[in-house]
Amino acid sequence: MSLNKSMHPRNRYKDKPPDFAYLASKYPEFQAHVQTNLSGKAVLNFKEPEAVRALTCTLLKEDFGLSIEIPLERLIPTVPLRLNYIHWVEDLIDGQKQPRRGIDIGTGASCIYPLLGASMNGWFFLATEVDDICFDYATRNVEQNNLSDLVKVVKVPQKTLLMDALKEETEIVYDFCMCNPPFFANQLEAKGVNSRNARRPPPSSVNTGGVTEIMAEGGELEFVKRIIHDSLQLKKRLRWYSCMLGKKCSLVPLKEELRKQGVPKVTHTEFCQGRTMRWALAWSFYNDVTVPSPPSKKRKLDRARKPLSFSLPHVALKELQAKARALGCTAHSPLDAITSLLEKALTELRVLHKRVPCREQEKSLLLTAVENTWVHGRQKRREQMRQLRELPRAHQGADTPKKTEDSTRESSDRQPIVEPADKSVPLAESEQVPGGELSKKVDSDDVEMIPVKDGEDAATRETISKEPRSPGSVEHFLFKCLVNVLHEESDVMVEMHWVEGQNKDLMNQLCTFLRNTLLKAVAKS
Ligand code: SAH
Repeated sequence: MSLNKSMHPRNRYKDKPPDFAYLASKYPEFQAHVQTNLSGKAVLNFKEPEAVRALTCTLLKEDFGLSIEIPLERLIPTVPLRLNYIHWVEDLIDGQKQPRRGIDIGTGASCIYPLLGASMNGWFFLATEVDDICFDYATRNVEQNNLSDLVKVVKVPQKTLLMDALKEETEIVYDFCMCNPPFFANQLEAKGVNSRNARRPPPSSVNTGGVTEIMAEGGELEFVKRIIHDSLQLKKRLRWYSCMLGKKCSLVPLKEELRKQGVPKVTHTEFCQGRTMRWALAWSFYNDVTVPSPPSKKRKLDRARKPLSFSLPHVALKELQAKARALGCTAHSPLDAITSLLEKALTELRVLHKRVPCREQEKSLLLTAVENTWVHGRQKRREQMRQLRELPRAHQGADTPKKTEDSTRESSDRQPIVEPADKSVPLAESEQVPGGELSKKVDSDDVEMIPVKDGEDAATRETISKEPRSPGSVEHFLFKCLVNVLHEESDVMVEMHWVEGQNKDLMNQLCTFLRNTLLKAVAKS
């Protein structure tokens, strides 16, 4: 599944999923849970907790030299997902292979984070737990791996998170705390179920004692708010506070809480394993910490930075040059010819443009589009209709009945726990780069290629003709962009880089229009 792409780059399972056949041949207790499917592939039934447990124990043994025991009625951690969090903490504290001091809030029976952090990086851990069974198992797991010098498991009262664990040590500064808070998804994860339905009751075979102890009142949101509350008192006693989240929609209110409280450094990330998505939030009261950027933002910005582009194949260049000469272009190079043709098309469209300095072997034009002259009236109307149709949908309340099949599918009574990366709840802030999706080669079907004719829309033209002709000096514009004309092997490439404006769709349309205008010129001759 492609979600594995957003596993942490250092996650050893990123491009190398566990080899079940190999593990089965080496570990008989694992082999007992492996079946061979019709195509001869070794497979595991992830719906069986016994099988999930066998995989976790086998991977910890094979890849980390750790031996653990965990009861079926408590959370069974999945190793690749836990590793993602460890690697992210490494990024936060620059802690790869460095001795660091951390706290794991709610370590579980496995004590997985401390065991991984201590064995991989030599980190010291204070591991807290409220549940007796978990506490006993965790203590034993640390002992049997000879890691008692690095990991201290402590039993804490339910009411407290960090305050009680730290009250005896007033001097030590911890580098981080991490936490996989008790939330409903844990139950499903424990059973190896990747359910999208939060309302689904917990699997009946889960020990009810376990359920009440693991489930936090008020869900993860309240649990993390309590950690935030503790952090506001402890402040610089820890360099980074962090927490995993089972629902993306928890991010926004928690970030808002941190903002309200004036916490100076906040970041988040996402973790993927197969179809399971998790998010994590981190905050710090130190101003000198390095803050890793959220992954989605990085990806979207990368996409946004990529220009729109189209190529003019070398077979078309001769004709384009001839066309440019016919229009009075005296320079001979294909770049000059195409730039002249672009200038002509832009002048006809009344898109303001001027040549700007650029690298050798390149031509650059700075464009300022003041009005949309490249989309035909019919399409404009269609676009307006579409926007009108979408308006009520955007304002629809959560319980308004939805009519279309699509919207029923997304209706709010089926809030997914496991949200696919791209369809999850949108973040309120700068996450959404306008038009980020447009940084692809343009699709010629996007726009009808009919420029506004003379005489049409005369009133608008009247205003436009009064506009100053220099692209830099207009106050009101739709968008500005930089057009680069350059060689790409024997072809010529036209790139459009977004500068600023209302909506990148408009640049996409103009790009398509210009490409079609140039190619049409070739087709006609
Ligand atoms: N860290 C483990 C377990 C996570 S489940 C893992 O990632 O697999 C959450 C754990 O937090 C449970 O074991 C639960 O007993 C424990 N817990 C719940 N409330 C707590 C509290 N106030 N302080 C410490 N642990 C708590």
